[in-house]
Amino acid sequence: MQQDIQKVIITEGEIHSMVRALAHRIQAEHNGETLHVVAIYDGSILFLADLIRHMSIPLRLYGLRAKSYFGGTQSTGRVEISGFDPAEVRGQPVLLVDDILDTGLTLHAVRRQLEEAGAMSVKTCVFLCKERIREVPVEADYHCRTIPDEFVVGYGLDYRGLYRNLPFVGILKREVYLP
Ligand code: 5GP
Ligand code: MG
Repeated sequence: MQQDIQKVIITEGEIHSMVRALAHRIQAEHNGETLHVVAIYDGSILFLADLIRHMSIPLRLYGLRAKSYFGGTQSTGRVEISGFDPAEVRGQPVLLVDDILDTGLTLHAVRRQLEEAGAMSVKTCVFLCKERIREVPVEADYHCRTIPDEFVVGYGLDYRGLYRNLPFVGILKREVYLP
């Protein structure tokens, strides 16, 4: 696996200090309310596990899967949620957690569904933000780091289901996914 990585861009040590700092910031801003954490699986699971273990405020955890159906190269993506009914967080403050913000389609669509179902508030939280123009108007309220527009793996992020267990984030060698 390691031999498929062109360059490590975030080390294991950097990940842990960034995630701990972000967890402390989020909990300071949500003191006194039970946070309803809604995570998008599978990519977010390592980030999620580290993030919530550094929080000592009361929270509830929900997980969902999001499947995207993009009309070719159009930005009109439809995103289908499964494994979770957004009505479960009606009237509650929600922290929506994903691994990485790229086009923005996933986070935008899930956030809209939570809002339409009556969530009291929805804050978005991602481990990484890609430096690129979003296809829809969505930004992360919380993130650990902005990275260049490269395909990365590790710390939950996969390529065809592999590399999620790498403890660092690295750029995947192009020869791995180009013919
Ligand atoms: P978006 O809907 O913002 O375009 O993309 C979000 C999803 O695309 C992420 O949850 C993630 O699964 C996937 N994704 C986007 N960029 C990358 C990347 O660089 N590496 C990996 N492994 N997945 C990515
Ligand atoms: Mg994902």
